[in-house]
Amino acid sequence: MTAPAKINLLGLDRRALEEFFAAIGEKPFRAAQVMSWLHHYSIDDFDAMSNIGKELRVRLQDLAVMDMPAIVHEQTAQDGTRKWLLRLEDGNCIETVFIPEDDRGTLCVSSQVGCTLNCTFCSTARQGFNRNLTAAEIIAQLRIANRALGRDPKGERIVTNVVLMGMGEPLLNFDNVVAAMNLMLDDLAYGLSKRRVTLSTAGVVPLLDRLHAACPVSLAVSLHAPNDALRDQLVPLNKKYPIAELLAACKRYVADEPRRRVTFEYVMLAGVNDSPEHARALVKLLHDVPSKINLIPFNPFPETRYARSDQAAIDRFRDVLMQAGLVTMTRKTRGDDIDAACGQLAGRVRDRTRRAQRRAEPRLS
Ligand code: SAH
Repeated sequence: MTAPAKINLLGLDRRALEEFFAAIGEKPFRAAQVMSWLHHYSIDDFDAMSNIGKELRVRLQDLAVMDMPAIVHEQTAQDGTRKWLLRLEDGNCIETVFIPEDDRGTLCVSSQVGCTLNCTFCSTARQGFNRNLTAAEIIAQLRIANRALGRDPKGERIVTNVVLMGMGEPLLNFDNVVAAMNLMLDDLAYGLSKRRVTLSTAGVVPLLDRLHAACPVSLAVSLHAPNDALRDQLVPLNKKYPIAELLAACKRYVADEPRRRVTFEYVMLAGVNDSPEHARALVKLLHDVPSKINLIPFNPFPETRYARSDQAAIDRFRDVLMQAGLVTMTRKTRGDDIDAACGQLAGRVRDRTRRAQRRAEPRLS
């Protein structure tokens, strides 16, 4: 008989940790103690948990682990952006990126091994899909980055913001993503405010309401087109949840907080979605949605059919939006010399969908 698998405590948020301790006949306050050791102090050894008695520490050793993915490779770009390639227990690899800015440090975290969505301008899509990340694998990305980056001279953590904008569609891994975000927000773990944690989605409409109820972090939505015909081509999920439904869900998401806005991401693809007409259509579409717009210059990858809009086109597009009163930013391309920019994360996915293979096969017609 094989011993039952040990539970990975890193993936348990406060409630799950309390349930774990209740199930082994311990008091709920142990959850807070252990959470703080695991995440605040980032210790790897049960014996270092000095406020936990010897007997319980031995029990924990028998029942539980605190396993993290292994760092396979670490790269730093010229602009200071850092990327880690992490190997999971099953051999798949994912990527995590840290982006330093003047006033903050943002960690871009992956939520799945690959992605099921197949957006036509994204390199993760070409990798196919293997599986959801566990909550432990998601929060471990923050733990690993915090360890590598340390603290600033004032003793503050270097990672001040987290965006779920790495590989995968976070809403399609709902429970694990929420558990990991609960840890990001918990004062005894990482203590980030919900404004500093952003979930980016291609628009899984029914799960937006659920997210709002479960863990109302900041919301970013990958819009990329001002009409359904074009968005159907770029983000195939749009055929299931068209723009009108998506925007209605976005309005509900921010309705209870007057100053909250949804960030709309818009990748700038030359000759595809970047004309002043597209910009004017976008203005119309968003006139009653509390929004900010983030224009993302397209980041190319091998064999892509798209090209980046030139700077003049991006500026023209931005000016139309700004003149209409929409808060608009052009995202700086960061870390592209190490393939760490938006849409370039690839990892090493053991594709179950055979998407890459199908693409390589000649079409029979
Ligand atoms: N699935 C989620 C999370 C991925 S976030 C989502 O779709 O929002 C990654 C962000 O980078 C999204 O806005 C995505 O549309 C954008 N992106 C993808 N490929 C890109 C590329 N090649 N260049 C620029 N941005 C890209």
